[in-house]
Amino acid sequence: MDIHVARTTQPSARPNADPPGRDGTLGQVVPAVDRPAPADSTAPVAGCPKRMVFGPCGGVRSAGGCEMADHPCVFLGPGRTLPEWREPQRPGELRPPLVLTDLSVPAGDAATLTATARLLAPTCDAMLVGDHQDRPDFPPTQLAGLIAAAGGRPWVTLACRDRNRIVLEQELRGLQLAGAAAVLCVTGDGRAFDVRPDVTQVFDLDGTRLTALAAAMGVPAGVAETPTAPPVDARPARLVQKQRAGAAVAVLNHVSDPASVGRFVAATRGQGLTIPVIAAVAVFTDARSAAVLDALPGLEIDRDVVAAVLAAPDPVTAGIEAAVAEARSLLAIDGVHGVNLSGLASDRGVRFAAEVQAEIGRRIREEVPHARAGG
Ligand code: SF4
Repeated sequence: MDIHVARTTQPSARPNADPPGRDGTLGQVVPAVDRPAPADSTAPVAGCPKRMVFGPCGGVRSAGGCEMADHPCVFLGPGRTLPEWREPQRPGELRPPLVLTDLSVPAGDAATLTATARLLAPTCDAMLVGDHQDRPDFPPTQLAGLIAAAGGRPWVTLACRDRNRIVLEQELRGLQLAGAAAVLCVTGDGRAFDVRPDVTQVFDLDGTRLTALAAAMGVPAGVAETPTAPPVDARPARLVQKQRAGAAVAVLNHVSDPASVGRFVAATRGQGLTIPVIAAVAVFTDARSAAVLDALPGLEIDRDVVAAVLAAPDPVTAGIEAAVAEARSLLAIDGVHGVNLSGLASDRGVRFAAEVQAEIGRRIREEVPHARAGG
């Protein structure tokens, strides 16, 4: 698919004026006056349900259909050019993690979150908490505070689905105060069809413009990219645009094999990507945890590895071994700094799943020189 990146007329966000804290967390609170929201005179592309300027999102179906509506993705039309972030922004300061572990707990359950974060904290460099489309949870700021209070280093996902840009700015300020080490700035999936179907979905910004807002406030911004989503050929350039908008780190969604990750990262670096990349490791130890990963749109896992793990005499041990092996291969790729332990891990409850994640994290950290660990 031949899609080019084109310059837009959008003015750049103002450069960051407030340096982050010394330890890579967000020690300084931005004054409440005269802070920028990156201006964008470029209108959302007509017909995009997420009102994106810097699309397409990662939810484009494999045949080019829209994630949200029954029509082709409007960014994939013939001759369509993808917009370019014109003036590069300085990213917030960040020590990228070697092991970034998903914190997967029930929504609105502070006790389980705290217990799980305490279990995981010694086994990873940071914990990533999602902003889920199917289960409204505590506000991101609250999640960061709970993780930090449990001894973890919080990476918090902030999605545009349910917040206008004022509320996004409020959350970014709150996340600074709550000690978030990074904010994963995403457009977000559309809300699940059965979750508050009568409530408006906002999408006032997209992930790239949210990244610029975060960077302008001195917040270390992570960005996500789905290498396997159409238009595959344009995904490296799109990630570079997010770097220009101020991203400090990129987190990749699951790709079926490390060689494909290697090709994608090489392509991005060839187009100017310099920020560290965190690659996803599929964590599963039974049929349900594998199926959950497999069902996510745009994500790919290695079916041969899944079959081997599920057929093993001890699928838990086999799943842990498979995850460590995948991490080893990913970390050997030039440009991949760390891995994101991602997936349900187990159908045997939150505690058992966290113990699986913890064992994988411990083993990766034992294998890799400590100097790479960050957070
Ligand atoms: S797939 Fe995503 S980017 Fe494309 S039109 Fe639909 S919501 Fe917009």
